[in-house]
Amino acid sequence: MNVIASVARAVPRKITGTGPVFRSIWLWRWILAAITLVATLVVFAFSLESGLDLARRQARQRLVITEAVLRAAVNRYEYLPTVLALDTQVQALLGAVDAPDRIADVNAKFETIAAASSVSAIYLLDAGGLTRSASNWNRPLSFVGASYAYRPYFTAAKATGISRYFGVGTTTGQPGLFIGKAVSGPDGRVAGVVVVKVDLEALQGEWRAAGEQVLISDAAGVVFLASEPAWKYRPFLPVGVAEAARIRAERQYGDSALKPLLDGEQADLAGVIDLPVGDRTVSGLVERAAVPDLSWTVWYVTPTGPALRQAVLAALVAGIACLAMAFALAARSQRKRRLQSEQSMRLALEQRVAERTEDLSAANDRLRGEIAERERATAALRATQDELIHAGRLAALGQISTAINHEINQPLAALRTFLASTAKFLERGDLATVGRNLERMTGVTQRISEIIRHLKAFARKTGTEHREAVALRATAEAVLDLLQARIRSEGVAVTCAIPPEAFVQAEPVRLEQVLLNLIVNALDAMRDAPERLLHLTAVREADSSWRLSVADSGGGIAQEHMGQVFDPFFTTKTTGEGLGLGLSLSSLIVRDLGGNIAAANDERGAVFAIVLPAAKG
Ligand code: ADP
Repeated sequence: MNVIASVARAVPRKITGTGPVFRSIWLWRWILAAITLVATLVVFAFSLESGLDLARRQARQRLVITEAVLRAAVNRYEYLPTVLALDTQVQALLGAVDAPDRIADVNAKFETIAAASSVSAIYLLDAGGLTRSASNWNRPLSFVGASYAYRPYFTAAKATGISRYFGVGTTTGQPGLFIGKAVSGPDGRVAGVVVVKVDLEALQGEWRAAGEQVLISDAAGVVFLASEPAWKYRPFLPVGVAEAARIRAERQYGDSALKPLLDGEQADLAGVIDLPVGDRTVSGLVERAAVPDLSWTVWYVTPTGPALRQAVLAALVAGIACLAMAFALAARSQRKRRLQSEQSMRLALEQRVAERTEDLSAANDRLRGEIAERERATAALRATQDELIHAGRLAALGQISTAINHEINQPLAALRTFLASTAKFLERGDLATVGRNLERMTGVTQRISEIIRHLKAFARKTGTEHREAVALRATAEAVLDLLQARIRSEGVAVTCAIPPEAFVQAEPVRLEQVLLNLIVNALDAMRDAPERLLHLTAVREADSSWRLSVADSGGGIAQEHMGQVFDPFFTTKTTGEGLGLGLSLSSLIVRDLGGNIAAANDERGAVFAIVLPAAKG
């Protein structure tokens, strides 16, 4: 079985998206999205609230400081009209308002004090509100001669002794705080009013420089000092008709149209208000504080933009942090799932591999058993083969025994005859003939020993391979020698065309046995033939081998027997003549020697060809 394919089947393809894992992933995603949204909103709200709270607290602190600065600016000059009202020269002037020297004295005094104290102007009104002396007596826009009887700071000071009033100067057009103090005459009645005009405009520059948005409004709600010039002389909310008429009559804020800063919807003036600045509006948290003795209100506006931006930023950070956390959690759980799936895959794989390993080792054991069995069978076969070769050899011996008998008996008979005749020639003293006979007898014994040597070699049961370079010609001659008697008796004509350089790599004895078989078969086949021709040839084939052919004129092999001649025990000879082992054993031997044997017919008879590997001669 294909191990890889079966292992692959055991491995899950991938995690499909339809199981409970998938649903829980989606649920988690929704939960994380909801948590992120809620966290973002909560952080936004909390951050905005705390940002606004901080802005409100800072505004309150700034308000306290602004009010203190304003009060200090006002109080710094509070004493000045009171002191001047007690001045004898002032009082003297009011006693003789047309006396030029007195006017000159007071003018000089006022001019000096105004310059020293940095107030806008100091001037003296008589009981009718006409200006008798002023610090700016020598300037083009001098107050001297002007009547301010309609101005509240005159009437209030006349009525109550002291007055404070913010308004735009009718002569100069410059705004300022007018502080009035009644001057008593010798009779105790009000003889006039000393007025000090304080310039508060510089405060606005300070607020602007500090980037603060500050407004000061009067009792009627009209803004008269502001960090932004566009807000000045405008009420927060629309003023009543009577109030507007009064302001205009007093010329408090010059020609201002008293256009309200806010629309009616922001009537409560608390929380966040939108103030116009040119084409745009500034949104700000408004905090206010009353300045009771002046009947003024100080407004401090803190822009909400920074708090809003900070809240958005914090919400963004929270959202991103939540998302990052969600991603980290998702990545972690995904990694965990992947590890789990990898682990289960690995386990399945290991299990499969273990199973396959067991299968393989079982198959291995089986194979080993089969190999051992085959080796045993091969050994048995080899033993049988050896036995058969030996038996074949003995059979061949049996076949040629008659010829051998004849071959050996003849020389033995010849020897006996020679011995008898030699004894007689010895008695006669014919030593020359004795010598010749002895020579012949030596030749005969040599021939006998030669035949016996071949027979011994043939009959010996050969053991393991012993290959060497064997000369085909010598082998053929040896075999022909063995069969010489039969060849001669049967009148067989032998031709041998084997070149002397034909050497093959073989076992000499076994090769002889093969050749002996082939030649004996050829002789058998030609026994009844009209002419008996045995032809041996050897030709070089493909450089690496030699082809040895044994051709006879015995009529050949019947076509129907052609495929069987190499089968063991196939014989066409009568019982006792042939065992049918010769060719099968020869075939085995030739194959053992690394060659092959084939049978064919030519026009006269059978041709057996042995091909064997060539050897160096
Ligand atoms: P056996 O010689 O004992 O019969 P072999 O195996 O040597 O056994 O030969 C098998 C048979 O092959 C012979 O019986 C014969 O029929 C046939 N055969 C062998 N050599 C020849 C040949 N040269 N010519 C014709 N037939 C042959």
